[in-house]
Amino acid sequence: MAATSSYTASPSRPIELISSYPPPIFGRQACSSPKPNKYDPVRVSPEDCIERIKKVFEEAKLKMPSENVNLSEFRCTDTNLPLNDPVYGWQCGHLFERARVQYWVATRGGVVCKACGPGHDIYADRFAEAPGLRASIMKWQKECPVVMMSPVEKEEKHLLNLYTNIADFQFQAGNFVDALDSFSKAFLYTNDINRYTVIPTIYKKMKLMDKAALAYLHLALGLYKAGETREALHTLKQCVACSPKPLKIDHLIVGLQLSFNHGAEQLNEAIAIASKTMDIEDAIFIAKQVLTYDPSHLEAYLILCGLIQDHRENSHFVLKGADCATKAGKLALTVLFNSRLRRS
Ligand SMILES: [Zn+2]
Repeated sequence: MAATSSYTASPSRPIELISSYPPPIFGRQACSSPKPNKYDPVRVSPEDCIERIKKVFEEAKLKMPSENVNLSEFRCTDTNLPLNDPVYGWQCGHLFERARVQYWVATRGGVVCKACGPGHDIYADRFAEAPGLRASIMKWQKECPVVMMSPVEKEEKHLLNLYTNIADFQFQAGNFVDALDSFSKAFLYTNDINRYTVIPTIYKKMKLMDKAALAYLHLALGLYKAGETREALHTLKQCVACSPKPLKIDHLIVGLQLSFNHGAEQLNEAIAIASKTMDIEDAIFIAKQVLTYDPSHLEAYLILCGLIQDHRENSHFVLKGADCATKAGKLALTVLFNSRLRRS
C-alpha cells in the first residue's frame, strides 16, 4: 500500500526508464545498449577514488581513540551514532543529534527517548542547547591524530633537507616521537608525497596500528592525487593489512585492481570477493565494476539482481541479465532471470 502511494506521489522519479524498454521479449534487446542508461555501471574514476579514500579516512579518524577523552563515545540516544551537533532532552538530559530531533519533530511532532522508554515523549520545545559539548566535538574532529602533509606554496629544499636529516637521525636512534615531530616540520617545506612514505612505518614501529592505517590512507590519497595509481593501490593494501579495525575499502581496492588487469580470471576473483562480502553496498560496487569490463558477466548480474533494492534499477539488471543469458545459450539462467522479473 505504502509503496504504491509513494510510487505515484513522487514526482522526482523519472518514468522514461521503464518506458524506454520494449515489453520484455528476451533475446531481442541489445546486451549493451548504445544509449547510456543512468543505471549502467561506470568505471571507478580518479575523483571517485579520492572521495572514497577521504571518506574512509574521516571515518577511521572518528573511530580512533583520542589521547584525552573519546568524544565519539558521546552518541545520539536515538541513532547511537557519534554526535556532531548535540542537543539535550530538556527533562531527561539524554543527548540527541539535532538533525535527528528535527526530523522526528517534523514527521511525528516529537521523539520518544529510547533511554527513558515510552511515555517520555519529548517535543520540539523540550530540548536544550549543548554549546560546550558541541565546541569540544568540533575541536576533536578537527584535530588530526596523525602527522599529515598539507599543500605548501613553494618547496624550500634547504629547510626540507635540514629537518629530514634530523628526522632520519632521530628515527635511526629509535626516538620515534621526536622523528615524527621533525618530519612534520619538514613537510612544511615540500609537496612531494613520496617524502611521507616513512610515516606509516614509524607508527608501525611504535605499535600504533590505528595511526599506521590512517597514515597509509593519507599516503594513498596523496599518491592518487599525484597520479601514482599503482603505488596508491599498493598503499591501500598495506593499510588494510595493518588496520586493527575493518575499513570500508576492499571494494575500492578491487575496483582499482581491475583498472590495471581485467582478464577473465581477475573478473572472477572480483566476483568471488563480492559474493563473500557481508557488505551489500560493497558487493554491488564490485559487481558493477566487473560489468564495466565485461558487460555480459552473468554472475555479476545475479549478484546485482539479488541485492539491489530499487525496483527500477533492479529491473534494469534483470532484463540485461536475461538478455545476456539468452545470448550465451544458458536457458536455465534466462528462466531464472525471467522469474525474478515477474516477482519484482
Ligand atoms: Zn531520556
